[in-house]
Amino acid sequence: MSQMDRRTLFSMQAGLLIFLGGVILLAFQRQRKQRRDPGAMWFAAAYFCSGIGLALQAERGVIPPFCSIILGNFFFMLFGALTHYAICATTAQRNRTWTYLLALDVTTVCNFAYYTYWQPNLIFRVQEASLVMLVMYVALITALLRVREPVIRPAMRSMAALLGLHSFFGFLRFTVEVQKANGDVLFSWLGVVTIAGLALCYLWMDSLRVHAELEQSAMTDPLTGLYNRRVLELIARRELQRAARKNLPCSALMMDIDRFKLINDELGHAAGDSSLCAVAGVLQASLRSVDIATRLGGDEFFVLLPDADETTAALVTARVRNAIDSLQMRTMGGHVFSVSVSVGMVTRRGADMTVEDLLHASDIVLYREKQVNRSINPSGTGGLQAGGAQVQPSNA
Ligand code: GH3
Ligand code: MG
Repeated sequence: MSQMDRRTLFSMQAGLLIFLGGVILLAFQRQRKQRRDPGAMWFAAAYFCSGIGLALQAERGVIPPFCSIILGNFFFMLFGALTHYAICATTAQRNRTWTYLLALDVTTVCNFAYYTYWQPNLIFRVQEASLVMLVMYVALITALLRVREPVIRPAMRSMAALLGLHSFFGFLRFTVEVQKANGDVLFSWLGVVTIAGLALCYLWMDSLRVHAELEQSAMTDPLTGLYNRRVLELIARRELQRAARKNLPCSALMMDIDRFKLINDELGHAAGDSSLCAVAGVLQASLRSVDIATRLGGDEFFVLLPDADETTAALVTARVRNAIDSLQMRTMGGHVFSVSVSVGMVTRRGADMTVEDLLHASDIVLYREKQVNRSINPSGTGGLQAGGAQVQPSNA
């Protein structure tokens, strides 16, 4: 490459990398604030450093060559160490490899100085730099492949593939292409395309996460974290079709907190909310992994028990009821209170089971149980009767 070529090319590439650093920083400003994820900041720092490195390399004719070669290489190599740190930070991996990479940068740059000024030997210098790049890439690929978060795995794998391709071309360059006149230009462009590809994958990773979060929030009730009715209909339809095919029973429980309004009115909305969360917690803890617990709205919960016959459903009901009865909650003001639930249980078999039928039938059974509870304890105050909210002072 002539001096002019080198200057133009490296300046353009430096500008591109600094621009990408800015894009990453801006794109992740919201994410850094909301999730306290420092990864994006380190990633942007990596791009700024590699941009500064290339800019220094471009200005070899203008600033003292010692500064441009030594600092230029140092800043450029910092890219590997900072990118490694960024990936580990953003994917919550505990890894100290980046400190070794940083030490490797410093050592390589010292060797650069030695082989450039005191013992000029281009081939040694180039070979050493290639080896360090390889170590950086292996460390980065390892960090990327160790990511366990399934949502962002495609983006992480693509980053690893880009780095793998770049190392492969680097290998080709030193074995086959080294003699060719445009080998350096081609390789420097390949490097920039790889680094730009990494930035795009990083942005893709964020969009995968945001999409998964939106999907999750559209599926769940924000207060209790249980599935909402929309998901119930989707999952339950599949379960009922499977049960019908295999001629298995399917049970459902409709649950409603007794005199929930009383808790809201006497102890406040926060106490009402905490009892809803406590009931949801009991459901999550006492059900099997195949069971589907949902909050239909207000104080009403619905549980689908696939493959459960009358006996199993009755056992589950008793278990859930006992667990809810023994819950002791406390308001901010120190009042201890407990809740009870009424449950409507139904079991169905056969091909004509539908979600609507289970919802409707269990609601009717629940309504009957409510009527019985009301006739036993019409006022619903003054201690725990069958089906009532018990409110007592904390020192009682
Ligand atoms: P019953 O024994 O017949 O079930 O009487 P109840 O007082 O529990 O009556 P109902 O089930 O109709 O009460 C539902 C109440 O739940 C009405 C509404 O104000 C309250 N509610 C609905 N959503 C929420 C919520 O997210 N948080 C709180 N704290 N209350 C809610
Ligand atoms: Mg109720």
